[in-house]
This record gives sequence, structure tokens and C-alpha cells, in this order.
Amino acid sequence: MSQKPFYITTTLPYVNSDPHIGFAMEIIRADVIARAKKLDGYEVFFNTGTDEHGVKIYQKAFNSNEDTQVFVDRYVVKFKELKSVLGLSDDIHFIRTTDKQHVAAAEEFWRRCDKNGFIYKKLYKTKYCSGCELEKTDTELNEEGRCFIHPTLDLLLIDEENYFFKFSAFQQKLLDLYRSNPTLVVPDFRFNEIKAFVERGLEDFSISRLKTKMPWGVPVPSDADHVMYVWFDALTSYISTLGWPDDTKTFDTFWKNGTPVQYCGKDNLRQQSAMWQAMLMSVDLPPTHTIVIDGFVTGDGGVKMSKSLGNTVDPLDIVKEYGVDALRYYVCRELSPFEDSPFTMDKFKEAYNAHLANGIGNLTSRIMKMATTNLTSAPEIPSKSIPTEFMDALGVFNTQAAANIVWEHISAADRIIQEKEPFKLIKTDTDAAIEIIKDLCVRLYTIGRMLNPIMPQTSELLKKLVKENKMPEQPLFLRK
Ligand SMILES: [Zn+2]
Repeated sequence: MSQKPFYITTTLPYVNSDPHIGFAMEIIRADVIARAKKLDGYEVFFNTGTDEHGVKIYQKAFNSNEDTQVFVDRYVVKFKELKSVLGLSDDIHFIRTTDKQHVAAAEEFWRRCDKNGFIYKKLYKTKYCSGCELEKTDTELNEEGRCFIHPTLDLLLIDEENYFFKFSAFQQKLLDLYRSNPTLVVPDFRFNEIKAFVERGLEDFSISRLKTKMPWGVPVPSDADHVMYVWFDALTSYISTLGWPDDTKTFDTFWKNGTPVQYCGKDNLRQQSAMWQAMLMSVDLPPTHTIVIDGFVTGDGGVKMSKSLGNTVDPLDIVKEYGVDALRYYVCRELSPFEDSPFTMDKFKEAYNAHLANGIGNLTSRIMKMATTNLTSAPEIPSKSIPTEFMDALGVFNTQAAANIVWEHISAADRIIQEKEPFKLIKTDTDAAIEIIKDLCVRLYTIGRMLNPIMPQTSELLKKLVKENKMPEQPLFLRK
């Protein structure tokens, strides 16, 4: 029997700075879901990549006196390294928006959209934030007339003839889509936000830039004076990575006949759940199945993280000091799956000691000590033991609820040791004590199985220790 297909993609971050904790959170969570689906027997296509066009990147390369392609090639390496740094799935796909195949797909997307009558040319005058790569209305600006998210950037004034996408033609169709798929956007409060936005009415948006002013983009087919607006090109990467339009087999399997999932931050809500869905409709392609919206990682007390406030955390430093599974644990269990979450090193260390060094680390040492002393070999392991509620939690992208279930199992095993004291019982009722120790080994193995998507290295280690009836060479997660 062939496997059921499952496609999941992260956003494609811009390559104008090093990978930050917010994106690390997003890609770890997407990896957890991808691994869970594999565990559940699906054939998984897990995608990430880099968004390499647009004003922001062009300016940064220009300011550092570097050829733009050389500049992006240099940054892409850092993003590709995330695979090993964050312990991501080996078979993760990586698309660059400067890949030839992607550029060809973006051009074909434009041609079809144009042929269907959804592209036209008009004079464009607007304020534009290069940080967001989005135009801004006055209500979206602070008192100094700057973007709320990028208060240090001067807005660009655009006054030129551009191509436009007939977004306004899709208001009713989008509302119909939202009604027909009640879990298109997760969580609900984000879905309500986008519904309200579309209900207020849609304005056509510009999808090209004059090449003389901004040459770094995908060429507009049939007009050599223009390049595509960065979002119009980048969003199509979600399907170009699947080989669209040429590789219909892969595209049909994972997109058309599958349940494609897009993970993104809350700053991407509009682009992913309205703009991209309308773009897909404009070329007669099926919509995304689910869009999961993450909150932001913030500093203590919810203040924005920034280098000047000194409250940023570097995912690479954390992995170096605490190991990749510790970061994956923290992202899944200690940060809210959908709301903004503060991330401080104090909180991280506290959770590390309480739930990893003392929690799973201590439990493993205690059980394996009793097992290696009293059992001649590993007990029989049931073929399936992952609780349904664990997989159900991941099915609705609640990585925190899933991780909580694992830690309930850890507490339950701790309680058994405390209440039944098998290490004492072994002297008076050996048979009963052996049964308790065997049960604890099976429980530890089940915990190992559940940890597969969340903490893959720890999962492998736990299963190996139980199966080989061995003590760990050193305690898991040494106290810090
Ligand atoms: Zn901005």
C-alpha cells in the first residue's frame, strides 16, 4: 500500500541577517510535525528555504559593496547549517528563490495569472517599508511616520508605473474559502483577524518594481523594464519546491491531492492566508489546507527583542551550551504554541535543570540503575505504545500539549518509584519488584517513542538504553 502524502513548509526567511530565535522556533515546530507524521506512516515532504530577492537584500549587499548574488550565497550557508544545528529531518528540502527552477516557476505563475486577466498596469504612489517589504498606510505608522516593526528605518517613497494584482476581485471567493474550511488558519483568533481584514474590503496591490530603481528580482515576463515584487515571487516557492509546473506527479501528490500545511509567524498572516490564497485562485490552483500562525518570541515582560536592549538570544549559542534537544524541548514545551512568548536565558536554565537534568535525566538514571542491577535482559516491548492523545495534540499543531503529555508520563513513572520503592522491595519480594522494574523500563521506552518528534537524539538514546539494558555513559542533561 502506498503511503499517505503530507506536505509541510516553513516560511522562507530573508537572507539579510543571521538566523534568529523566532525562525528557529518556527522551523523546529514544523520539524516536530513532519517527524510526527512520519511516525504515523505518512510520506512527508518537508520544505524550507531562503527568500533572496527584494529591496532589503539589494540595499544590504549594495552597502557592503558586494555583488548581490555573492552576498546571498554567503548568507544561505548559515541557513543551510540550521539542519544540523537544530537537528532537523535529514530529508528536508531547501528551495532558494534564486534557483533557476523557482525563477521559471514564478514567471509561469505570472503568465497564467496575467492570461486569466488578474494583472494590469497603473501609476503607483505609496510609502514602503523595506524591513517588511510591504507598503504602509498612514494608520500603520507611528508618530514619527515609521513602521511599528521597523522604527529605525526610513520609509521609501514609491512613485512609478507598476503592475498590479486584482486582489479586490477575490473578496467573496476568500470569504467562501474561509467558510468552507473552518481550520484553514490555526489558531482561531488569527483566523478571525484575517476574516475581519477581508470583510473590510481588499485593495489591489502592486506586484512589480521598475528595474532601474530595484534590479534584484525575478524578471517580469514580457516586460524587461520590471522585476516582480518580492512577495509575489517568494510565495510561489511553496509550489515551485514541489516541481510545479513541470513535475505534476509530485505537485499533485503533495499539494493537489494532499493537505498542504504552511507554518509562519503572525507577521505573515495576511500574505499567507489572503494574498497567497487569492494568487492560487487566480491561476486555478487549489488552496492551502492549513496555515499555522506562531506568535513572536519576545524579551522579558513581552518587550521586543533587540540588539540595543541586549535581550536577544542566539539559538546557536544555546545549542553549543545545552545541546540541540534542550532547545527543541524549550521551544515545544515552555513557549506558547500560538501566542507571543518571552524567552530569557534565566527561564531557559531553570527549565533545563528542572525538567531535563532532574526530570527525564534523573528518571532515566534511576530506572536504568535498577534494570541493569536486577534484570538479565530488556523486558518485552509492546509494538505500539504511543498514546492517541499525544498524536492528536500534534495533529492540531499543539506542540506544547504534546510535550506536556510526555512529562505527565515522566511524573507518573517517578511516582511509581516513590510509592512502590522497588529498590527496597527487591530484598523482600523479588518477583514483585522485578515486575515493577520491567514496567518502568517499558514506560521509559514509551517516553522515548513519544520524544521521537520533539527530541530525536534523546528518543534514540532512551530506546537504545532500554533495549540493551545499559546505564547511560553519563547522566542525560548534566546540571548547569
Ligand atoms: Zn516594517
